Amino acid sequence: MLRNDMLEQWDRENFFHPSTHLAQFARGEAPERVVKGGEGCFIEDRDGNRFLDAFAGLYCVNVGYGRSEIAEAIAEQARELAYYHAYVGHGTEASITLSKMVLDRAPDHMSKVYFGLGGSDANETNVKLIWYYNNILGRPEKKKIISRWRGYHGSGLVTGSLTGLHLFHNKFDLPLDRILHTEPAYFYRRPDPEMDAAAYVAHCVAELEAMIEREGADTIAAFIGEPVMGTGGIVPPPEGYWAAIQAVLEEHDILLIADEVVTGFGRLGSMFGSDHYGLKPDLITIAKGLTSAYAPLSGSIVSEKMWAVLEQGTDENGPIGHGWTYSAHPIGAAAGVANLKLVDDLGLVKNAGEVGGYFTAAMADALAGHAHVGEVRGEGMLCAVELVEDKSARRFYDPVGKVAGAVVAEMGKQGVIARAMPQGDIIGFAPPLCLTREEADRVVAATAQAVKVALG
Ligand code: PLP
Repeated sequence: MLRNDMLEQWDRENFFHPSTHLAQFARGEAPERVVKGGEGCFIEDRDGNRFLDAFAGLYCVNVGYGRSEIAEAIAEQARELAYYHAYVGHGTEASITLSKMVLDRAPDHMSKVYFGLGGSDANETNVKLIWYYNNILGRPEKKKIISRWRGYHGSGLVTGSLTGLHLFHNKFDLPLDRILHTEPAYFYRRPDPEMDAAAYVAHCVAELEAMIEREGADTIAAFIGEPVMGTGGIVPPPEGYWAAIQAVLEEHDILLIADEVVTGFGRLGSMFGSDHYGLKPDLITIAKGLTSAYAPLSGSIVSEKMWAVLEQGTDENGPIGHGWTYSAHPIGAAAGVANLKLVDDLGLVKNAGEVGGYFTAAMADALAGHAHVGEVRGEGMLCAVELVEDKSARRFYDPVGKVAGAVVAEMGKQGVIARAMPQGDIIGFAPPLCLTREEADRVVAATAQAVKVALG
């Protein structure tokens, strides 16, 4: 049996952790946690401490931990056929069934799904498909992609460029050419506090139009956005935002990628964020909730309009030169089939809407009037508390991030996991979709208590 001190030593000596302060971790100054088990909304570490995980891992364990239905589907698939590739028309029962289940749930105008491994590679696929599409249509100049500041779309080369967070660009020589960033739909941080929602939407539209004018519509291929911005601060869009943005994109023949890695499969209380906000995307990115992270799997759902051009491309040029060894991996696909069935059987989309709404309202109630709580916002099973140094002047903390970090650390002492979002003093919540009202109450109480301890 491995001793805890031995594991910790190996961890600090050998393991390169993502999104971690490497020097502090190696020196033993940053905490480490060895997670051992989980059930429902709870995880347990090796020391036997239990935590209510109000961020579902990284907003991905949507059905909750410890679901034997998915574990058994994975084991059965591994015993029968652990791997075969999906190139040149190969498939498995699981991958074919899952593609049908995804399309049955996706908006009607979507046509096919390409399976990858994670959200980043799915967005890489999307960008390649868009470039291919415009080459087939004889528009080799139409290649730039507009993303939004604070958007999160992955941390590869192109996807890290699409991501609009400084931490993911600085010192990595990103963003790459062809990637542009425009105003996020972040009402609380609007440039002029006098703006109402309609004026702010008009401002976002004007910024987008100015960018298109500046760059030339014939150079811009696509716009990418999360229906509700996630890692940039958990920010639902103001009323009317998506309809107004889509009208501009249509006018200039610019494709829309809805990055639904977080919002896909129920998190907003609707199957897709695209349904929730009336989006008609050309591509939809899916990952996390596709398997509830029981195995790595992602997807790019392609619209009929784009699919017709991809078919034309292969008629003209031969097979499409794009594929991963692990595309549509049978174990991921088996996990996906069992997971989507469980989402239906447990009524989790409905629960996300109902308990999520209750959760955000209870959080707003509990923190109402606190001098340093600037805003409580949410949609479905997503919620954020934005902390400010001065509420009436809407002045943010400087340096950024320390205060939210302290609140989240305090919550940890009370057995609740929330996430200090990377840019701002924003406490993020994205619990499993099976959260109960009692569990929501517990998260709210821990947050209120931690805010009190950390900020008075
Ligand atoms: N897109 C969105 C909206 C995400 O939130 C994430 C990850 O959090 C990604 C893409 C990247 O996914 P992955 O970390 O699986 O590569």
